[in-house]
Amino acid sequence: MIPADFDYVAPESLDEAMSLLASDEDAKALAGGHSLIPMMRLRVSAPSKLVDLRRVPGLRGVERENGHLRVGAMTTHHEIDAAGIGLASAAAHTIADQQVRNRGTIGGTLAHGDRASDMPAVLMALEGSVTAMKPGGESREIAAGDLITGYWQTVLEPVELITEVRIPVLEGYGYAYEKFNRRQEDWAMVAVSAAVKVEDGVCADVRIGLTHMASVPLRATAAEEALRGQPANAESIAKAAEQAAEGTRPPTDLNSSADYKHHLARVLCRRALTGAISA
Ligand SMILES: Cc1cc2nc3c(=O)[nH]c(=O)nc-3n(C[C@H](O)[C@H](O)[C@H](O)COP(=O)(O)OP(=O)(O)OC[C@H]3O[C@@H](n4cnc5c(N)ncnc54)[C@H](O)[C@@H]3O)c2cc1C
Repeated sequence: MIPADFDYVAPESLDEAMSLLASDEDAKALAGGHSLIPMMRLRVSAPSKLVDLRRVPGLRGVERENGHLRVGAMTTHHEIDAAGIGLASAAAHTIADQQVRNRGTIGGTLAHGDRASDMPAVLMALEGSVTAMKPGGESREIAAGDLITGYWQTVLEPVELITEVRIPVLEGYGYAYEKFNRRQEDWAMVAVSAAVKVEDGVCADVRIGLTHMASVPLRATAAEEALRGQPANAESIAKAAEQAAEGTRPPTDLNSSADYKHHLARVLCRRALTGAISA
């Protein structure tokens, strides 16, 4: 389908982008366009104006600062993949195909709030956050776990822009990302991200993120608790992974039933934890 009519502007500063968004309540930010443009073509979204962030300086790149990585909102999935920043890179590598990874951005995927997107649950497992800015320069930090409130819903106000994503550097952790889909280079039917710190043969800390196991990204807290403090071996992992689907409410869709997703979560969790402790 053809989108409804819209205006297009490509501001050259963050201030300009902010005031353009503030001056028109139906305007929307445009990042990589790989979610917004398809939605406009389906007329699920019909913004009056697209405010393209491509020319806004300072929104791109990965920098290390005081135990954190600062990732600009306009950093593409490909750039994150190439940056070699652990779990986030492993997940970025599985997003769609090279064309989508060259255009799609971390800020766009987090603001979009798709329950099948890879990055939201990864950022939750890493206990990261986003910085959101309002016109006038006031900004707030939103924990990854508080950002997405439902399918395509976030706590972001229409005038707020994500400017950067903060990812704690997890020293001494192994990690793995396991994603299951019907076709290669597709959204996850289910995905599990794991980061585990092993000290003296014991799982000292365990972080597990679940993608597409509810309308929001989740942590597999029961499985995390079951493995924390246990020996880092196959038996403890198998026991913990059995609890991966606890408290989840996966949507039944054309690809799979909720029951099948429960099964996938347990299998992928075992694989991801095994990968993380062997990394
Ligand atoms: C064929 C195909 C396959 C895909 N497969 C996957 C996959 O396997 N896994 C996956 O995770 N994703 C997948 N995607 C989605 C892809 O990752 C998109 O890049 C992503 O969802 C949106 O990022 P974007 O930069 O394109 O954002 P856009 O489409 O430009 O914007 C999306 C939404 O976010 C808002 N927005 C954008 N930037 C900001 C910002 N800085 N601050 C506030 N709001 C902002 C926009 O206004 C819009 O509402 C796929 C897409 C396609 C087309």
